[in-house]
Amino acid sequence: MTGLAAASVCDAVVLERESRPGGICTSYYVRPETPGRLPDAPADGEAYRFEIGGGHWIFGGAPHVLAMIDALAPLERHARRSSVYFRSQDRYAGFPIQHNLRDLGEATAAKALAEIVSAQPGNPRTMAEWLERSFGPTLCSAFFAPFQAAYTAGLWTRIAPQDGYKTPVSIAEVERGARGLSTPAGYNVTFAYPRGGLDAVARSLAARCDVRYGTEVLAIDASARTVALADGTTWSYDRLLSTLPLDRTLAMSKLDRGEHPDPSTGVMVLNLGARRGPACPNDHWIYLPESEAGMHRVGCYDNVADHFLPSSRRGMGTHVALYVERAFAGPRPPMSEQRRYVAAAIEELSRWGWIANVEASDLTVVDCAYTWSWPGSRWRERAIDALEKAGVQPIGRYGRWRFQGIAESIGEGLAAGTAVRESR
Ligand SMILES: Cc1cc2nc3c(=O)[nH]c(=O)nc-3n(C[C@H](O)[C@H](O)[C@H](O)COP(=O)(O)OP(=O)(O)OC[C@H]3O[C@@H](n4cnc5c(N)ncnc54)[C@H](O)[C@@H]3O)c2cc1C
Repeated sequence: MTGLAAASVCDAVVLERESRPGGICTSYYVRPETPGRLPDAPADGEAYRFEIGGGHWIFGGAPHVLAMIDALAPLERHARRSSVYFRSQDRYAGFPIQHNLRDLGEATAAKALAEIVSAQPGNPRTMAEWLERSFGPTLCSAFFAPFQAAYTAGLWTRIAPQDGYKTPVSIAEVERGARGLSTPAGYNVTFAYPRGGLDAVARSLAARCDVRYGTEVLAIDASARTVALADGTTWSYDRLLSTLPLDRTLAMSKLDRGEHPDPSTGVMVLNLGARRGPACPNDHWIYLPESEAGMHRVGCYDNVADHFLPSSRRGMGTHVALYVERAFAGPRPPMSEQRRYVAAAIEELSRWGWIANVEASDLTVVDCAYTWSWPGSRWRERAIDALEKAGVQPIGRYGRWRFQGIAESIGEGLAAGTAVRESR
């Protein structure tokens, strides 16, 4: 999305490894009981719509970017419904959990409230220290420790605190929530999604660009201003914007000075279409601190909009389209482990009564999904600086190694593309 947005305003060529536009946000379709992905919705509408990285909801973003996305693909707006599910007690709590303590029961709520109110966050080095000091032992052992361990694939005790806005701490809101009076909070309280699917945005942007599909970049020679492609050809460039993960761009450019790079984690996203189980939640997504299969979040596409379901299953409440996330650190898990995860997740969700009779199951793997930093690390700044000095401009969520959503990524691409156009 970042690269397409940039090229759409500056007449650049987009080199894209895949055969479709959209990167992690690419939508695809799976017919019930028929393995294999369809790139487009079939004419009869009889397919689940899934996304490569799971449900991609448009939040935040500058008004002009949202207006542009809306013009490309009309948006529908939604108010977030999300929760935390404690399997051991079969109990749901509102999200963010610190603003919904009452849902943990009165005794736990009182204990957690007392700990949060008297917390001394100080100057924590790691994410684990930050959460423990900010929220105290009760809420940490109930939620943050098991959830963050799964979400960061075990890194949370070693990485720097990050994403504070995802975990807002307002004592007034914590106190209100302990009395059962919570108000929605966080970065995605409302969000939007195109009526025609996110693929409509990627397709419309790509239609304004010269995209060379199936073109994989293997190496960048910043001094010769060339890129080497997997098909053996070499291209020259004037200006190069890279939306690849920062560590990849650095290594491809051979500007890597052997410094220990900041870590990233990947995610396996299991997209499922199934008969709706009797206990299937009505929320848009649910955080899971207690899953045997290692799932940390499950989202229900069709609780947002039923156009994610095959047309014959819409409006009846009989079926569900889910995305089920599990993080990993290090290299992509081998196929045997991917298969084990698929089987374990389906078994667990069936046992919970969330799904029955799976009719579409498709696993996607995002190798670089979340980027982190080691405490005190300056790797990110140095890497960006080294690339920019060599005339390679890293852009986007992965290019600049920071959390941002689609709207912000598109906004950044538009700004970078405009700067290129104006510098000519
Ligand atoms: C699990 C998950 C859930 C998310 N949920 C949301 C959400 O709900 N809402 C939201 O706003 N954002 C969400 N995001 C963030 C969103 O995905 C990113 O902001 C967005 O995808 C960034 O787009 P990008 O174009 O910068 O990167 P990418 O989508 O990674 O694009 C990079 C492109 O480079 C191509 N490429 C890779 N290697 C090569 C190569 N060697 N040669 C040529 N091409 C190559 C890829 O195929 C891809 O098309 C989520 C991210 C993840 C991981």
